[in-house]
Amino acid sequence: MEGNGRPGPVAFVGLGHMGGRMSRRLAEAGLDLTVFDLDAARAAPALERGARLARSAADAARGTDVLVTMLPTPAAVEQVMLEDGGALDALPTGALWIDMSTSSPAVGERVRGRAAGRIRCLDAPVAGMSSGAEAGTLEIFVGGDPADVERARPLLEHLGDPQRIFHVGGNGAGYVVKLLLNLLWFDQLVAVAEVLAIGARSGVDLGVLHTALSQGPTASRLLERDLLPLLRDGDYEEGFSMALATKDLRLAVDLARSAGVPAELSAVVEQVFTRARAVFGDEAGEMTPVRLYEQDAGVLLRLPLEGAAAR
Ligand code: NAD
Repeated sequence: MEGNGRPGPVAFVGLGHMGGRMSRRLAEAGLDLTVFDLDAARAAPALERGARLARSAADAARGTDVLVTMLPTPAAVEQVMLEDGGALDALPTGALWIDMSTSSPAVGERVRGRAAGRIRCLDAPVAGMSSGAEAGTLEIFVGGDPADVERARPLLEHLGDPQRIFHVGGNGAGYVVKLLLNLLWFDQLVAVAEVLAIGARSGVDLGVLHTALSQGPTASRLLERDLLPLLRDGDYEEGFSMALATKDLRLAVDLARSAGVPAELSAVVEQVFTRARAVFGDEAGEMTPVRLYEQDAGVLLRLPLEGAAAR
């Protein structure tokens, strides 16, 4: 931050479903913003609101106070930060790197190792879907030193709900919490799909079953909120691709392996997602495993409109 409390120059790299909306919000807030994506067309929302377009990630990083990355995979994070002529070498000493990608603690550690204390680092992955990125209501799980978290907070508050920006531990803890949050959500999704398909095939009214599950001891935000666009309109949430969902599951199962914890359930769920991706494609939405159950059971899991409207 500059001495007057205003954020200094900010660079944003990775302008996809999430980063495109997040960078638009930062530009709208009047930050001094430079953006980069391999696909230049993705920069349009930020450029229309006053951001500058860089020629490369390193070009964006040069002279900036804060670099935000929102990239699809750990490999992309590693490439952007560490490849020859990458963003790490271009960042000024003392700059802050905030990685908001769902990435791995190991890659964060490699970047910090190469930086050798020359820059400050936070991992700050998010939950809340592309609609949360659009509205600035993301939940953010931040790992790093408290002073760096405070330095980042004014910027993060343009992107997330100020009450739901959680400092969850030292460097790497943000990645771990986010991967586990996704793991539990994916596990729940497959369990719910299985239960609803069995119920529908057993002749129970889907609206009645959904209400019973949502209001009893099995209540969850997934049942009460996240699943409704699918049950109402057949929306499998294409804002988050199966390519990324299976990446997250693989990272979570890898985490279990390196922690030495058996994860049989999650390994099965990972296989269900892998089959759904193979059948319906990389760009299919993250709820697509439900479609597998619909296909296998020969039922369409849809609520009557009046049942949905009552919720
Ligand atoms: P996306 O695939 O829509 O966008 C990724 C962007 O990164 C693309 O525009 C791509 O061109 C760009 N990119 C890839 N490699 C690059 C490189 N080397 N240099 C510059 N740009 C590069 O992905 P997304 O849905 O925006 O997700 C971004 C991250 O956020 C992922 O880690 C994802 O797991 C996580 N996430 C996504 C959601 C969601 O609902 N989409 C929710 C929470 C977290």
